[in-house]
Amino acid sequence: MTEPVYYLGGEFVSARTASLPLNDLAILRGYGVFDFLRTYQGRPFRLRPHLERLHRSATAIGIEPPWSIEALAEITHETVRRNTFEEATIRLVVTGGVAEDSITPSGAPTLAVMVGAVSPLPAATYEQGVKVITVPFSRTMPEIKSLNYIPGIMALRQARAAQAIEALYMASAGTILEGTTTNFFIVRDNVLITPCDNILKGITRGVVLEVTMGQMEVMERPITLADLSECQEAFITSTTKEILPVVQVDGVRIGNGVPGATTRTLHELFQEATHL
Ligand code: PLP
Repeated sequence: MTEPVYYLGGEFVSARTASLPLNDLAILRGYGVFDFLRTYQGRPFRLRPHLERLHRSATAIGIEPPWSIEALAEITHETVRRNTFEEATIRLVVTGGVAEDSITPSGAPTLAVMVGAVSPLPAATYEQGVKVITVPFSRTMPEIKSLNYIPGIMALRQARAAQAIEALYMASAGTILEGTTTNFFIVRDNVLITPCDNILKGITRGVVLEVTMGQMEVMERPITLADLSECQEAFITSTTKEILPVVQVDGVRIGNGVPGATTRTLHELFQEATHL
C-alpha cells in the first residue's frame, strides 16, 4: 500500500514522516480541536459545515484559526487529490501549538490534515442492528470537538467488554445525550426524537433532520429511560456509521428487537443525500 500524504503546517508530507514538536500543547495538555468527515464519489461530504464546526471548536477554546474556511477547503481538496483512496476519511486537527513553559501557548496553532481509507461496517451489522450501553457522563464543552476523548475511550472499552458497539452518555438527570462518537435518535409512536442540548451537533444528525423535514414529526428534546422502554426504534448516527440501528440498550430490547422500517427508510434517504 502506498503511504498516505498528509498536510502538516503548510507542507504535504508522507504520513510516516509527519511529526509534531513534543512541546505542542495538543500533546502536553490535550489542547486542540479536530473535525472528521469523509468523501462520497471522491468529494468531501458537507465540507463547509465540517469546516465551520472546526472554526467554532477552535474559537471556543481560545485558538483564533489563522486559516479562512476557503483556505481550509482548498487544503482539504488538495490533500485528497494527492492521495489515491477511492473514498477517503479526512481528519483535520488544529493543535494548540508549542508552549515554552508547557502551558501557555507561545507558538502559532498547527493544522494537520490526515486522510485514510473508509472502512464501512459489514452489511450484516445494519441488517441485525447493534447493542449499546449507557455510561453516566456529560462532556465539558459538548458542542465542540476537542482532542480530549479520554472518557470516550474508556467508555468504549466498557462497551466492548459488554459486546456492545457504542456507549451512550447519560446525564445526571437520567437522560441520554449522545454516544462517544455518535448522536442518538429514537422513534416513538411515529415521532422522531433526538436530544438537542449538551451534545455535539453531528453533521450526520443534521442531514437526518434535513431529509426528515415534512416526512414525519420531529422533536428535539431529552430522551428519558421511559422513552427507551416505550419506543419502537432507535439508531445512532455518525460520519462513518451513517445511520446504524440500535436493538438493545443495556441488555434491554428496543421495540421488537430488530431494525425498524423508519430507520431503514432514513438510511436510504441519507444515502440518497450523499449522491446529490
Ligand atoms: N457526538 C460526538 C461526541 C462525536 O464525537 C461525533 C463524531 O465524532 C458525533 C456526535 C457525530 O458527528 P458527525 O455526524 O458529524 O460525525
